[in-house]
Amino acid sequence: MTVGIPRAGMYYRCGVLWENFLRSLGEDYVVSGETNKAILEKGSALMADESCLSSKIYMGHVDSLLDRCDCLFVPWLSNFGADGINCTRFRAYHAMISNIYRERAPKLLTYAIDYSGTQDMKHAGDEETAFMSMAKALGRSKKEIRDAYRAAKQISEEDFARRVAQAEAVADGEGTKILIVGHDYSIYDAYIGRPIIKAFQNFGMKLIDANLVDRRQAQRDFRKLSDGTLPWTVSRELLGGVVRYRDRVDGIVLLTGFPCGPDSLVNEVIKREVDDKPILYLLQDGQDGLAGVETRIESFTDILTYHGNGER
Ligand code: SF4
Repeated sequence: MTVGIPRAGMYYRCGVLWENFLRSLGEDYVVSGETNKAILEKGSALMADESCLSSKIYMGHVDSLLDRCDCLFVPWLSNFGADGINCTRFRAYHAMISNIYRERAPKLLTYAIDYSGTQDMKHAGDEETAFMSMAKALGRSKKEIRDAYRAAKQISEEDFARRVAQAEAVADGEGTKILIVGHDYSIYDAYIGRPIIKAFQNFGMKLIDANLVDRRQAQRDFRKLSDGTLPWTVSRELLGGVVRYRDRVDGIVLLTGFPCGPDSLVNEVIKREVDDKPILYLLQDGQDGLAGVETRIESFTDILTYHGNGER
């Protein structure tokens, strides 16, 4: 059985865990290719117009995998802890896929995380418990699943810690530095985020991803910028990232895929609370690469450079 993993959404947070879990079990799996115009157009055609850019990209990746795998890996991720929730999209992709492809009825491999115990989802629980629920679908013993999960979890945590250490080193290093605040599936997406990162780098800027923070600390720190009622875990982490890095960067870029409800709130908080740094707001609507934003990126880097030189 070949498992298909969409290179979108939570893949950018959990992909190392997922791939190492399947690899450790010796399962065949395939990850969809990098996002391109065709993937975005397909996803846009499948999803309602008002859906966010990221979910259109997600569905485009799902579609690209249908002929390449026996089942799609689509976890149901309500939250990552008892305090905080995920965007509803990560609880909805199952139903969306089943609805969009009701004739074809693709097989889904899934696990359901819910630390709060409040969601009505079969077999939902903490992450390890959730992984165990895949034993039957994968034809494995509970022990095999537990061992594979624990080994993969350790690798993914070490990988994340290494990336956080790299971000900290950039923040402590020389150069003009920009904190980029956005979902990792936007920042690292080859079609919507990476061209922007590359453009800044071509101007000599050092980029720091606000997602790369100690997540537990960020869950406490986000209250320094907001009243503590923000429900979304990832949004809290992004605000925690702003608290962590704001004094060590020269400017902040807010990267948002249109139309994202959580981001609209988070961006507003940052614009109101961080009044000592230049902020550039980039709203991506799925246009080709850098279309329409090159001039704004160049102007912003000019501002940061003049500030850094003590010029006004
Ligand atoms: S958080 Fe925003 S960008 Fe992400 S899936 Fe939800 S609406 Fe879309």
